[in-house]
Amino acid sequence: MNSEYCAIVISYREYREHDAIIKLLDENGTISSLIARGVQKINSKNAAGCQQFTYGRYFVNERQSTVLHSLRSAECLRTYRDIREDLYMQSIASYMCEVIEKSDFEENAFPLLKTMLEHLSKKEQPFGVLCLFQAIVNRMHGIEPCVEGCVHCGTTKRIASISVQAGGFLCQSCMRMEDQLYTVERLKKFRLLVKAHLEHISLVLESACFDFDDFLIQYCFFAEYAGVSVKSIRFLKHLYALHIDKT
Ligand SMILES: [Zn+2]
Repeated sequence: MNSEYCAIVISYREYREHDAIIKLLDENGTISSLIARGVQKINSKNAAGCQQFTYGRYFVNERQSTVLHSLRSAECLRTYRDIREDLYMQSIASYMCEVIEKSDFEENAFPLLKTMLEHLSKKEQPFGVLCLFQAIVNRMHGIEPCVEGCVHCGTTKRIASISVQAGGFLCQSCMRMEDQLYTVERLKKFRLLVKAHLEHISLVLESACFDFDDFLIQYCFFAEYAGVSVKSIRFLKHLYALHIDKT
């Protein structure tokens, strides 16, 4: 049986001498693996459509006898080449793809990834895009930090810290020695991200300037509560440590 669908390539792995195994996130949110034969050959017509982050139309041979279906042909609809050509954008997009692949969401993650790739390709506020991605992913995992007031006493005054263990804001009276003191600006950005949805992305990016530390706070909640291990975070942190500042 043959089928066709539109999807984004979320991973590409070389396989044997000339082949590759690609993972696709289709428009319904289903993730599937395909063997793409011959795509490592120089004259392969399907090579472009199999690169990571490509959005395309995929024609697939589905044989019931095999676990891994094979790609017949791939048609590029959007290559996102500009993301692949920039190490920073590439590492952010790779992180997003891995998070989605490992999270195994029931909710359709396709619109989330597609929107994020569109905004990353504009190269405006990549950390803002990453922050909102992480905040939405956290919510999809059921992680919703309390940002209405202090987690312990409920006050909305003198909010000074964010505690991953406590699950949200802490006021000056309730925070402990080991809790980090944050600026009002940082706390506001955290609240904005926790409240924002995908359709608010342009508004979020216009309203504040986000940096890697804003992302790390969101990521700490994910690392603590999502139960998902993501390898590409190490490279992202390493890259940031090299001070390639693209805020
Ligand atoms: Zn308090």
